Amino acid sequence: MKYKRSSSLFAEAQKVIPGGVNSPVRAFKAVGGDPIFVEKAKGAYLYDVDGNKLIDYINSWGPMILGHAYEPVVNAVVEKAQKGTSFGMPTEIETEIAALAVAMVPNIDKIRFVNSGTEACMSAVRLARGFTGKDKIIKFAGCYHGHSDSFLIQAGSGAVTFGTPNSPGVTEGTAKDTLLATYNDLKNVEAVIAANKNEIACIILEPVAGNMGCIPPAKGFLEGLRKLCDENNILLIFDEVMTGFRLAAGGAQELFGIKADIICFGKVIGGGLPVGAFAARAEIMDYLAPIGPVYQAGTLSGNPLAMAAGLAMLKELNKNKEVFNSINKKTEYLHKGLNEVLTSANVKFTINRIGSMISVHFSEKPVTDFASAAEANNENFKIFFHGLLNEGIYIAPSAFETWFICDALSYEDLDATIAACGKVAKTLK
Ligand code: PLP
Repeated sequence: MKYKRSSSLFAEAQKVIPGGVNSPVRAFKAVGGDPIFVEKAKGAYLYDVDGNKLIDYINSWGPMILGHAYEPVVNAVVEKAQKGTSFGMPTEIETEIAALAVAMVPNIDKIRFVNSGTEACMSAVRLARGFTGKDKIIKFAGCYHGHSDSFLIQAGSGAVTFGTPNSPGVTEGTAKDTLLATYNDLKNVEAVIAANKNEIACIILEPVAGNMGCIPPAKGFLEGLRKLCDENNILLIFDEVMTGFRLAAGGAQELFGIKADIICFGKVIGGGLPVGAFAARAEIMDYLAPIGPVYQAGTLSGNPLAMAAGLAMLKELNKNKEVFNSINKKTEYLHKGLNEVLTSANVKFTINRIGSMISVHFSEKPVTDFASAAEANNENFKIFFHGLLNEGIYIAPSAFETWFICDALSYEDLDATIAACGKVAKTLK
């Protein structure tokens, strides 16, 4: 495959955009080479500016669960755009999408829309602090909750890919209120709580971690956190930016049968437009301005185009819940195929999967937390990434990311992917 035009566009971009990209994980720094500039996408495929066709396993980092340029979503946006793109006034569609989200997700009465997952998590933490009157939060090493200051402490995803899990620019004052814990280690969480008695407002976590590769919660971990929160008057925040409307219509809460106090959304809820949201029972949500004391706002929040895309997406998922089974089965098929070809290539690997989230770590040990994810062989990941790209398969350009499966993928696409993985696996060390 040739990437001549992508490389020249990247050279131009670097002159006027830092690093040539508007979000660091899009650059190929962790794997080497130049990023690919996309021209258009449809269904499971990306078409780049050099005329290459790629099978897409990133799907815009999660939102395109039904595939790219999904017609009901595109039509809803086009229709709305003709009536004006932003008003800064209430619109009926905001209530419509809110009511549908509240009906689909367990344990929430009210939801507020924002413009990104970062904003959702940042606002959820402020709300938790306002509601409990406490300052400290617990987050887990390797979890990513967006790029707001309080979360850039041992963060996963791009932050760790680029070696800045603790970013310069985050003040010591902010960092001291973020307490770190180890994912899947309840004893560790217990110790952190004991050392900060009556000071912790919330525990925030990805109920399935997706930003250190995919790491499912160990048996009893989420239940244990719920219990610790109840015993210590701490709010439990599920960051379902990745898992919401993906693992099930009601997200991880539904899948695992665990109640969180505040839930954060992004990605799928916006149908591919810039949307985030956070939700909780009325008692908590009514702490927000204009009826409560905790301030939170946004010029473009609830934007009509974004709401139209999100509503069209949620309606599709709500009307056809079978889609969750369908993507899970496809991911299971991929898992089985990858397992076979990597085993026969005799490489050391661990595949983690839950629902339609899957990742490959080149490590023979179980990958259950940030430390075990970081031990995997990154040199092999680089070879794997570029080998697959050469075969027309696009996975995330970092080992600290999850593959997102979309329902537009056919079993032929999956077979082609498994065959390509088998071929590339033979080149690994
Ligand atoms: N939370 C999680 C779990 C994420 O994966 C992400 C982004 O990947 C975010 C929050 C931040 O969302 P956004 O990039 O929309 O700000």
